[in-house]
Amino acid sequence: MTSWKLLATASACALSLGLASPSMADVSIEDVVNDAKSANDVLTSGLGGQGQRYSPLDAVNKDNVSGLAPAWAMSLGGEKMRGQQAQPLVKDGVMYITGSYSRAWAIDVKTGRELWQYDHRLPEGILPCCDVINRGGALIGDKFIFGTLDAKLVALSAKTGKVVWTKEIDDYKAGYSYTAAPLIVPTKAHGPLLVTGVSGGEFGVIGRVEARKVDNGELVWSRPTIEGHMGTLNGKESTMTGKKNETWPGDLWKTGGGATWLGGTYDDETKLVFFGAGNPAPWNSHMRPGDNKWSCSRIAIDPETGEIKWGFQTTPNDGWDFDGVNEVVSFDLDGTKAVATADRNGFFYVLNRENGKFIRGFPFVEKITWAKGLDENGKPIYVPENRPGNPAKSADGKKGENVFAVPSFLGGKNQQPMAYSPKTKLFYVPANEWGMDIHNEPVTYKQGAAYLGAGFTIKTIFDDHIGALKAVDPATGKIVFQVNNKAPLWGGVLTTGGGLVFYGTPEGELKAIDDTTGKELWSFNTGSGIVAPPVTWEQDGEQMISVLSGWGGAVPLWGGEVAKTVSNLNQGGMVWTFKLPKKVAGN
Ligand code: CA
Ligand code: CA
Repeated sequence: MTSWKLLATASACALSLGLASPSMADVSIEDVVNDAKSANDVLTSGLGGQGQRYSPLDAVNKDNVSGLAPAWAMSLGGEKMRGQQAQPLVKDGVMYITGSYSRAWAIDVKTGRELWQYDHRLPEGILPCCDVINRGGALIGDKFIFGTLDAKLVALSAKTGKVVWTKEIDDYKAGYSYTAAPLIVPTKAHGPLLVTGVSGGEFGVIGRVEARKVDNGELVWSRPTIEGHMGTLNGKESTMTGKKNETWPGDLWKTGGGATWLGGTYDDETKLVFFGAGNPAPWNSHMRPGDNKWSCSRIAIDPETGEIKWGFQTTPNDGWDFDGVNEVVSFDLDGTKAVATADRNGFFYVLNRENGKFIRGFPFVEKITWAKGLDENGKPIYVPENRPGNPAKSADGKKGENVFAVPSFLGGKNQQPMAYSPKTKLFYVPANEWGMDIHNEPVTYKQGAAYLGAGFTIKTIFDDHIGALKAVDPATGKIVFQVNNKAPLWGGVLTTGGGLVFYGTPEGELKAIDDTTGKELWSFNTGSGIVAPPVTWEQDGEQMISVLSGWGGAVPLWGGEVAKTVSNLNQGGMVWTFKLPKKVAGN
C-alpha cells in the first residue's frame, strides 16, 4: 500500500471515530462452523451452531468470580427502551448487538464506545405478538444480518452499518414479523446459507424455514412446517410437507400456524438444521381433531435441499399454546449423537439427532396437569378432563368449560435459551413454574387478526417462586439442583470451563452460580430486568462477560395475574461488560 493510501485510511478513521478503530469483521464460513472452539470470538447465536452456550474459558472461575466488576456499559438510548433480548456477537474487538424496535449497533469492546447505529424504519401497523424485541444477528463475510418487526431481513456492512441488501420475508399486515437471530449454515451446493423462520403464529400464518444466499438474500429453498403446503428449491416447487389432510381436517391446515419464530441450530456432525414449530392455529383444539403435524414439533432439515429428514412432535393436537419452538441443543450422550430440548409443555426430551428417535423424556417442572407422562415413544399420555372444554358442547355454544392448566401457555420454558456443560454433562434450564385458567371459544380466521379462540389468565402455583434455574441430567432425568427466583426467568444461560453458570433475572441481577451445587458466587444489579443470554470471550488475554439489560418481552404483556406482580420492574436498555479488575492495591 502506498503511503498516501495509509494516510487517507488513518485520517478517515480519525474523522469518523476520533480515535483508532478496531479492525472490522471478516468472517468465513469455517469461522462460523468452528465458533464453539474459538474462545476469542462469539460468531453465532448459541456460542456454536450446536447451541450449547458453553465457553471453555476458565480465567474467571469459582475461586475468583466474586471479584468480577464492570468494565463498561453502553445505553441503547432514545425513547425506545423495551425488552432487550439479543445475544451479542464479538469479532476482532467489535461487538454487534440488536435492540428493541429493530435497531442494531457495533461497539468497540475495549471502551464501550458506539462505532455505528442502524435504526430500521418501521411502518405503522406492525403486529409483533410479544413486545418489540429482537434476539440478535448473524455475522458472515463483511456483513451483519438481522430480521425486523416488519418481517424483513437486513444485511448491513459490519464496518459501516450501511445497508447492503434488504429482503421481505412476508407481509407484516398479515401478521408476519421477525425477531430470531438468523442461522448461518454451510452447504456444498449453494455455499453459506442464511437460514431463518417466521413469526406470527397467533395470526394463523404458516410456519416455514427458508434459506437464502448470504451475498444478496436470494431465496434458495423454503420448507413449510404444516402438512399439505408445498416447499420450494431453486425457484421451483420441490415436495409437499407431509400428506394433505393426514393429520389435519378440512381446510384448517391452510391457516394452521406452526410458526418457526425462535430460529434454529445447526449440527455440523450430522449436517442437519434443527428448527421448532409453534402452536397450531387456532388455539381451540376442538376445531382441528388430529395430530396437526408438524405444529408443536422439532424438525431436522437437510440444508442442501430443504427436505425434512425427521420430525418429532411434542404436543399433538395442542390445546394450550405449547409452541414447540424451543432450541434443539446437540450434545454427546455417552457416545450417542443426541439432542435435547426443554419444551413449553413442561417435558424435557432427549432424542437421537441422526434419526429423531426418542431416547427419554421427563418433566422438568412440577405439577403438570395436562399429561400424566410420556409413553415409550415420547407421546404425551393426556388427561382428557384437563383439556379446555369444547365450546360447541356448552349451553350457549360460546364458552367451553374452563380448566386450570400447568404449565401456563408461556411455558415451562419459553424463548430464554438453556445451556449445556460438557464438563458436568448437565443442562441448565431457565424454567418457570406457573399455571393458567383457560377456556375455548368459537373463532373464524380473518387475515391480520388474532386467531385464538381462547381466553386465559396466568396464575402462580408456588408462593415463593415462578422462575427456577434447573440443573438437568439428560442421562437420568434427575433435577440435580434448582435455584428458585421470585419473578419468571426470561433470560438465557451461559456455562464456562471455569465451572460457572451465568444467567440474569427480571429483578435485574446477573448471577454466577457453581455448576455442581447451584451456590451463588457472584451477583451484579444491572438496573433493569435481564431477558437476554450472556456471552463470554477472551479479549487480549482477559476473559470478558457481556449481557444486555432491559426488562420487557411477553411476561408484562401476557402475564395475567403474574404481570401485576412484576409491574414494579423498570424498563431499560444497556449493554454491560464485565472482567476481573487488574490489581489496584499493588501487593
Ligand atoms: Ca468463538
Ligand atoms: Ca404461540
